Amino acid sequence: MKRYDYLIVGSGLFGATFAYLVHKEGKKCLVIDKRKHLGGNVYCENVEGINVHKYGAHIFHTSNKKVWDFVNSIVEFNRYTNSPVANYKGRLYNLPFNMNTFYQMWGVVTPEQAHEKIEAQRQEVLAMMREKGVTEPRNLEEQALTLVGKDIYEKLIKGYTEKQWGRKCTELPSFIIRRLPVRLVYDNNYFNDKYQGIPIGGYNKLVSGLLEGVETKTGVDFFENREYWEGLADRIVFTGKIDEFYDYRFGKLEYRTVRFENEVLDMPNYQGNAVINYTERDVPYTRVIEHKHFEMFGQEIYEKPKTVISREYSVEWKEGMEPYYPVNDERNGDLYMKYKSLADNESKVLFGGRLAEYKYYDMAPVIESAINLFQKMI
Ligand code: FAD
Ligand code: UDP
Repeated sequence: MKRYDYLIVGSGLFGATFAYLVHKEGKKCLVIDKRKHLGGNVYCENVEGINVHKYGAHIFHTSNKKVWDFVNSIVEFNRYTNSPVANYKGRLYNLPFNMNTFYQMWGVVTPEQAHEKIEAQRQEVLAMMREKGVTEPRNLEEQALTLVGKDIYEKLIKGYTEKQWGRKCTELPSFIIRRLPVRLVYDNNYFNDKYQGIPIGGYNKLVSGLLEGVETKTGVDFFENREYWEGLADRIVFTGKIDEFYDYRFGKLEYRTVRFENEVLDMPNYQGNAVINYTERDVPYTRVIEHKHFEMFGQEIYEKPKTVISREYSVEWKEGMEPYYPVNDERNGDLYMKYKSLADNESKVLFGGRLAEYKYYDMAPVIESAINLFQKMI
């Protein structure tokens, strides 16, 4: 006799959402996680009364009303709007690329002037590409140059991207940069989505709301006692690394990871913004996050005398580190497809989430995907 309908490996948003839904249907499930806490990468640690995003800054954003209503049914969200600022050699530029950025870069004031400036730089690049017989951008550098021209590419994209991915822009796929919107309006809202915010009280509230009433065990690694865990349930939802699940039989998938250098500062407001990107190559970190700005606004900022910042260093992943970002290149893409073909033939195990699908997944799509899997199962 099995004791559980579902064993869910991983308590990140995929596992927690799936657990919430099957638990509500009256199914018996157990969630296990190898970390000492629940919530996966959205977990926050309270330092000096401030929720510190332990695994990197997380901003919830979506245009999917179903997902937005779902998360708001668990916890209320605040009105945080992500407006990162880029620091290039001590000069500040608003992001995403919008009229404020173009004004700061070139002194242009109207959308028409900005358009002309960008268009002139784009045409230069397109002409050079035509000369070489290139019709479509072949890599991130060409994609960026044909989107925004040389000035923005060199000051705001090249250094940041090469630091973040540890690879030259000419060796990265173009689609990474398509995520950056370009706007001819004075609008510093980073995301185009209809809804965004941070759970009031922090992400741990979202996770504990999802897992309320669900049996959980932390500090246990599925692979340390695989047969035991597999024998406990009719079905397994696996949200860990897919290559590890198959004992790396085709080779190891690669990741990028981030090293965080956290500091508590004896001042209420260090940088005046949650996110500042350092876009020059010579500054070793990519961003500085000041966590209190995610949840405290106006006077509230000064009610806590201290502040917590994290400098983010992007590094190549090695065994024992947290695997954060899948590496989007051909080798890893092909390798993942081999593992996926094994996974597609499993009858008892379902794979989902960032590590099991080896996918650059934001929170809302992860939740949507867990909802979809649940709907397939009932
Ligand atoms: P995870 O959160 O990684 O959860 C997987 C869980 O499985 C982990 O808790 C892990 O410990 C556990 N596990 C793995 N292997 C085992 C095992 N063998 N045994 C037991 N447990 C195991 N998204 C946004 O929407 N906005 C953002 O601003 C944003 N910022 C991000 C910043 C960073 C630095 C990173 C890395 C991601 C960011 N994301 C952001 C993406 C977001 O973190 C993910 O979409 C989401 O957390 C994925 O949930 P998941 O459940 O798939 O994975
Ligand atoms: N990017 C950049 N300069 C910036 C911010 C982003 O060049 O100041 C590029 C970089 O290549 C990055 C991509 O845009 O990989 C996507 O960045 P985004 O912040 O949207 O994604 P995240 O790193 O948060 O997943």
